[in-house]
Amino acid sequence: MNTKLSLTLLMIAVAARAEDVGQPVTFAARASASFSVTAFGAGPRALFDSGDSDPVPEPWDTVLIQGFLPDPGVSFEAARAGSARPDWIPLEVHRFPNGRFWARARAAIGPGPLRLRALDAGVSRDHAVDIYSVEAFVAGAEAPGAAVPPARGPQNPDAKRPFVYPRSAWKALPPTQPYISDPMPWRITLHHSDGRYTRTLQESLDEVRFIQDFHIHGRGWIDIGYHFAVDPLGNIIEGRPEGTLGAHTLGNNVGNVGIVLLGDYHPPVNDLPTAPELAAVTALGRYLVARYGIRPDELKGHRDYMATACPGDRAYAKLPVLRRALAAAPAPPAPDLTRARRAADAIFGFVPASFDARASK
Ligand SMILES: [Zn+2]
Repeated sequence: MNTKLSLTLLMIAVAARAEDVGQPVTFAARASASFSVTAFGAGPRALFDSGDSDPVPEPWDTVLIQGFLPDPGVSFEAARAGSARPDWIPLEVHRFPNGRFWARARAAIGPGPLRLRALDAGVSRDHAVDIYSVEAFVAGAEAPGAAVPPARGPQNPDAKRPFVYPRSAWKALPPTQPYISDPMPWRITLHHSDGRYTRTLQESLDEVRFIQDFHIHGRGWIDIGYHFAVDPLGNIIEGRPEGTLGAHTLGNNVGNVGIVLLGDYHPPVNDLPTAPELAAVTALGRYLVARYGIRPDELKGHRDYMATACPGDRAYAKLPVLRRALAAAPAPPAPDLTRARRAADAIFGFVPASFDARASK
């Protein structure tokens, strides 16, 4: 059988893009890769070889990649780089019908760069594969960390939450273990998904379902790590339930509400935060500020806590205006002035007009 394979490799230049856990792996300072495949027939042929990665500082036993794989007839292998005869380990691929995929391999723990390759496992058509990110890390449980909350502003238990598409809208799996309660958050962290920039609500729901699968089965977490996802259309989608401990900012998850923007807001992709998207984050943030007394300056980007590009330059640049919008939130209900009135009455023998003016607002 005649076979013909033409292969082009394109490594996309990009600054390091770290994820929500683990170490981002770069290849000649590039964190993502694309390769196009033109194939007729199938055979045991390499479609892509990353070559040795840049140094990976910490030891690792897990390789985790995610991206877009239009044709299921591609498999992946990883090896610890540097050996003349690499010990290739197959990655277990989880591919959704829409082409979103993640893949993982477990290896003996050790340091060193890694190498990644793709093989023809029955390619049926011309296509291009996008690897959005590669990570190497030691698999383990979620690491909540600990921190002391700062002083809070006033809290309003009756604050109204904007409409949030519930977990049932994206057919969420139940968590694999009971949640840990985290009932009084004092900070909000903005992320980007480093994934699809979705164009319809259905795409967004599918993407959130993909992220949950990636977090549970890829990262080994009990559920999707974020509490909320916001898409470019301005839809807000429920992730891990509010009031439970999240898994999105390694070592700083306690008291931390995780909001992820769907898309990749960092070079070279440079998705743009849309006006409806920012309005949705503002509405959600205002609710959280009012409900829990979170201070607006406690809205931060993932990169404020650790070395990561998340939430991407384009989204990170919006944080100052978002903080100002949170600070301009409608004033919480006026405090009960009854005691102040009584005190004023006792002192002045009447209630000053200014009390009435304040109380009536
Ligand atoms: Zn992040």
